[in-house]
Amino acid sequence: MISVAEAIQIVRQQTTTLATEHVSIEHALGRVLAEDVVADTDLPPFNRAQMDGYAVRAQDVKEAPARLRIAGESAAGKGWHHQLEEGQAVRIMTGAPVPAGADSVQQVELTTELKDGTIVELLESVETGKSIVPRGAEIKTGEVVLRSGTTINAAMMAVLAAFGYARVAVFRKPRMAVLATGSELVAVDQKPGQDQIRDSNNYSISAYAELAGAIVERMPLTGDETSLLKGQISEAAKRNDLIVTSGGVSMGVYDLTKAALRQLDAELFFERVALRPGKPTVFARLPNGTLVFGLPGNPVSVAVTFNLFARTALLSMQGTAEPELKRETGVLARSVKGTADRENYLPAQLTTNDDAELVAFQLKWGGSSDFVAFALTTALVIVPANVKSIEAGSLVSVLRLP
Ligand code: AMP
Ligand code: MG
Repeated sequence: MISVAEAIQIVRQQTTTLATEHVSIEHALGRVLAEDVVADTDLPPFNRAQMDGYAVRAQDVKEAPARLRIAGESAAGKGWHHQLEEGQAVRIMTGAPVPAGADSVQQVELTTELKDGTIVELLESVETGKSIVPRGAEIKTGEVVLRSGTTINAAMMAVLAAFGYARVAVFRKPRMAVLATGSELVAVDQKPGQDQIRDSNNYSISAYAELAGAIVERMPLTGDETSLLKGQISEAAKRNDLIVTSGGVSMGVYDLTKAALRQLDAELFFERVALRPGKPTVFARLPNGTLVFGLPGNPVSVAVTFNLFARTALLSMQGTAEPELKRETGVLARSVKGTADRENYLPAQLTTNDDAELVAFQLKWGGSSDFVAFALTTALVIVPANVKSIEAGSLVSVLRLP
């Protein structure tokens, strides 16, 4: 049995980055950058007024109140492109270029226009540089503003647009097939008969996969029969980078996923991880290169193992700089128990206490089949292997779930 850390290491080693493609900016949200984004202009591109008011020479209003002749107007998109001379002011709007010769902007609230708008009286002196953002103060031409490997979020869309990235290089989205095994399973629109349950894993797996950027294909439900399983795995492998199965990896007579994979000449990288829930997780590669995760059938095991392993593979394929769920440190609200030889990942909710600490409340749950309790879970508390228990108030590692 290998540790969770070793298993994640193997996943990262065996996963290769997919090809890149260009998408229009409209389709860039959530994609992973495959190029550095570089500023093609200074920002601001000119000395920019930060306030509505008057552009002046600070030395002209040393003694306030001071009266200056209004020489013109500089608006956003239509600047006043002359030299400001001694004794002059230019009416200026937020976002407009500050004329040459002016070194400060006095806000309109501290001024009064006189004589039909030909003269302005500044009621207070103004310090040099006030309310001006100098050209290039935010970004200079040629600076890298976003690195390859970054997942494009809403705020970054503005960055792409500002620097003219109408098309941007991103990594291809991984194609992933999801395949539920188990003769007890019926589809969501069926009423389960005797001894049957509805398949729920395909839905949680698809959802987590889509959050991780995958294009998901749902394969037909496969009963516990090796030939059927082999058929569906081979079919899915024709057009997918990754296949995620659930069920059929334990030690029961009808746990046939590994047999199917072996008969298809898959290379098995691991088949047991020192993890609870999720010990019998399988990771393999088919001869054509398609990777396969054989996850256990219990819905909570599915959620834990998908997010530890398959999500890491999907994000690695997309060239994400940090493909693993981030570890944070929280305070344990209730004491928890550990397991000999296996790391525990316990469903929890995160909150913040009055000392601004992250607090992890372990949820009461009925074990790895209890997906209804798991629906309230926002994080997993990690209890290291061979730790008998951890007392309330202790610091623990937590993983925030997507
Ligand atoms: P298995 O790993 O195949 O032994 O399944 C473990 C448990 O998970 C059994 O109670 C199964 O009925 C249940 N299970 C397996 N697949 C699914 C699924 N797709 N949706 C919901 N429950 C499942
Ligand atoms: Mg089964």
